[in-house]
Amino acid sequence: MASAAAAFSGSIPSHSRLHRDHKAAQIGNLVSVVQFRESNLRKKWAVHAVEPTKRNDSVVASAASAVAEATVVVEETVKARETEEVVDFEKLAAELENASPLEIMDRALATFGDEIAIAFSGAEDVALIEYAHLTGRPFRVFSLDTGRLNPETYKYFNEVEKHYDIHIEYMFPDAGEVQSLVRSKGLFSFYEDGHRECCRVRKVRPLRRALKGLRAWITGQRKDQSPGTRAQIPVVQVDPSFEGLDGGAGSLIKWNPVANVNGKDIWSFLRTMEVPVNSLHSQGYVSIGCEPCTRPVLPGQHEREGRWWWEDAKAKECGLHKGNISETQTVNGDAESLDSVNGTPDLFQTQAIVNLSRPGIENLMKLERRAEPWVVVLYAPWCRFCQAMESSYVELAEKLSGSDVKVAKFRADGDEKPFAQQELQLGSFPTILLFTKNGSRPIKYPSEKRDVDSLLAFINALR
Ligand code: SF4
Repeated sequence: MASAAAAFSGSIPSHSRLHRDHKAAQIGNLVSVVQFRESNLRKKWAVHAVEPTKRNDSVVASAASAVAEATVVVEETVKARETEEVVDFEKLAAELENASPLEIMDRALATFGDEIAIAFSGAEDVALIEYAHLTGRPFRVFSLDTGRLNPETYKYFNEVEKHYDIHIEYMFPDAGEVQSLVRSKGLFSFYEDGHRECCRVRKVRPLRRALKGLRAWITGQRKDQSPGTRAQIPVVQVDPSFEGLDGGAGSLIKWNPVANVNGKDIWSFLRTMEVPVNSLHSQGYVSIGCEPCTRPVLPGQHEREGRWWWEDAKAKECGLHKGNISETQTVNGDAESLDSVNGTPDLFQTQAIVNLSRPGIENLMKLERRAEPWVVVLYAPWCRFCQAMESSYVELAEKLSGSDVKVAKFRADGDEKPFAQQELQLGSFPTILLFTKNGSRPIKYPSEKRDVDSLLAFINALR
């Protein structure tokens, strides 16, 4: 997978370089000020040239000293640039892969000082604050107040501020943008046309503003939170989506100190350290976001199933970590066709799985009464999630072989994509459908759990 991060140079300046660049920028500003003063003085000289008797020698001396000052700072800047160090964050991520969250946090805070901040959502990512607190270093915390959070979350913010004696830097959406969205589409448009527009206004843009004032940020993303979108996150990376203080690609570093920690261990840590937690957790909430878009999950259900549950699993990033979604996994991404023509090997190649052609699946759709139920995966061979479910789907087909359930596949990328989107509820790959014996419309498998037992439970409950 060509990660979005790889689009940036593998190496970016270290903090010391960043710091020097910042200094250099300040020096640059000073040079500009000096040049501005100098050019103004020249203008004065031009004026005074016709009145030589009124020429002010002290002004000339000041100009000369300003030019000398400028020359010194320019030399310093050049020297600083010549000796700058470069940190390869991919290499650093590999080095820190087995480090503890505390170690990673300490490294992040030590490297970026007050130019880094923790992004706090009001959930178990409070662990980040506890780790930062344990380092003994000063740290900053910011949070996005979308205006749609649960009352419990607001109370919790207050509790955390008191517990750690900190002030959370709240970021708010632009009032005009919220007003225009709500006036044109209502308060709950996300249930109808997806969460992205609302998230963009209430979360992503405020986040973008917050990050523009930083050189690095710290998130509570964990690999186990979403097998679909978070399975690859490193402990530190050049942010693939957002820009920092200097602007431009590669100007922001993203630290994910708990990337490799699982949810259970986070909770043991919080309990051991007696960290206050959001009271919503005791009501069955695991992942916590905005009130209308978060719900409790049942025991055994994946935590991300409590977020935007009316949408496809793969799309469950609010935009804050959109770099997690690779272009090659995006149904509408151009990268898809590139991978298709590259000749990625086909998937699900076993006798137990029927390979449906377009007329084949059209016939299946037309039948009002089928001899047996059919489970069909709509897939694309280049899709990482389809590849990940290959063995479980093959196992499922082998288990069901000889039963009255047919297992099939339909390759739905390329030219077939518009048809699959329109007629077969394709949102993202893979989409799994169950054609029951009598139902005219297939039932879409709603979960991102694609192990054999979950798939069998779905089939047996509905066949
Ligand atoms: Fe809007 Fe829901 Fe996104 Fe919150 S989570 S910003 S309410 S769409």
